[in-house]
Amino acid sequence: MSMIKETIEKVKKKDPEQLEFIQAVTEVLGTLEPTEKKHPEFVKAALYERIVEPDRQILFRIPWVDDKGQVQVNRGFRIQFNNAIGPYKGGLRLHPSVNLGIIKFLGFEQIFKNSLTTLPMGGAKGGSDFDPKFKSDDEVMRFCQAFMRELYRHIGPDCDVPAGDIGVGGREIGYLYGYYKKIVNRHEGVLTGKGLEYGGSLIRPEATGYGLVYFTAEMLATRKMDLKGKTVAVSGAGNVAQYAIEKVNQLGGKVISLCDSDSTIVDEEGISGKKFDFVMELKNVKRGRIKEYAEKYKTQCFPGKSIWDVIKEKGLKVDIALPSATQNEINKGHAEALVKNGCFCVAEGANMPCNLDAIKVFQSSNVLYGPAKAANAGGVATSGLEMSQNSMRLNWTREEVDNRLLMIMKSIHKSCLDAASTYSEAGDYLAGANIAGFIKVAKSMLAYGIV
Ligand code: NDP
Repeated sequence: MSMIKETIEKVKKKDPEQLEFIQAVTEVLGTLEPTEKKHPEFVKAALYERIVEPDRQILFRIPWVDDKGQVQVNRGFRIQFNNAIGPYKGGLRLHPSVNLGIIKFLGFEQIFKNSLTTLPMGGAKGGSDFDPKFKSDDEVMRFCQAFMRELYRHIGPDCDVPAGDIGVGGREIGYLYGYYKKIVNRHEGVLTGKGLEYGGSLIRPEATGYGLVYFTAEMLATRKMDLKGKTVAVSGAGNVAQYAIEKVNQLGGKVISLCDSDSTIVDEEGISGKKFDFVMELKNVKRGRIKEYAEKYKTQCFPGKSIWDVIKEKGLKVDIALPSATQNEINKGHAEALVKNGCFCVAEGANMPCNLDAIKVFQSSNVLYGPAKAANAGGVATSGLEMSQNSMRLNWTREEVDNRLLMIMKSIHKSCLDAASTYSEAGDYLAGANIAGFIKVAKSMLAYGIV
């Protein structure tokens, strides 16, 4: 058996309950087989086996007091997966579903994504099973302070630089950074996604969504197409979804859907102008539910369903899908329905939103499929630019950061295609992203010897 196959089997045996991690390892390693043949030195150094084992796993208790004066206890995680090419870097997720398997899958993916950005950043991820939904600002603050009370000793600007993810936006980063600064008495670039007034970068909030659409435009250009006049389905209603919509609108496309964990809304006229402003206010200021959009604009609302369920059940026609909510939202049935309804391009805004069977459907149907680690890498890339600005104690303009983001997304797109042509099949973005991300990390690990 090849070392890659052996490694996948070992992961399944060692951590059988970590389903998302097993899925991510199977997806990544499954495409790395050509590297095994081309680089026997990787096999000799057991790189495949070493890369699936995190450098360090930090698990901790987070006790905090709610508004009623009751003590609550949550579980905290920081998985420092691999720092071969730079300090650990990756977001923090606050969601009740968070567990070790989910944080490991996210940290593992982050290694390759960060490598693809061309910036020197290793892979990590963290979070907690705390649910910020329906909590008061004070409760969120007390939780964030309790979380940082333990996390601070494991992170640092040259060691590990966390950022946001699901449930962690500007408000949470502010509380986390404020408490870190208080404890260590240093103002330094230890978190990204900071407010502009205290070290943040312009374009960081927009970066994942904008980058996703820049990557989509690059994929379309390979078939001499662009976003003008295209109908786009977006899932989620958070940071990634919001700025993906803004950029699709700017490039002449039409977004017809949004969802949160309660419901999906479909607006076939397009979510733009005042309607888009309403979503931004609803989600970022009022912290309301997406069904309020349907109530205000008298559009269709589907409680308990995702947009992918709606497309499957109602036969809604879309050209492009940008899943931007969470992992495994698109299964084989959804993928088949998308293809049947004319979808020719899928780019992943969320991490691992398509399961392995869905990916196979897209690939066998000649759909342009942009995997998350390439398509949504704009967020972490701009976090890398925030780190650079913090180190230089300088701020770049909006245009400068946006231009760098665009260049990085173009370069990621090219790296994927180049690696696919060299090692796999031309146009295979999945293999291309995994291989291009892996080679740089693998060569660095090789240089360090057995550590
Ligand atoms: P947010 O918390 O801002 O938004 C997440 C959105 O997705 C919310 O509308 C949320 O609804 C919805 N959602 C979450 N879980 C589910 C679910 N199980 N079913 C239906 N809807 C759900 O997170 P982000 O936009 O930051 O992140 C979205 C995805 O993008 C994640 O996979 C994240 O890892 C990935 N990503 C984010 C980056 C970033 O820079 N923020 C960078 C790269 C990837 P509700 O409010 O009801 O929970």
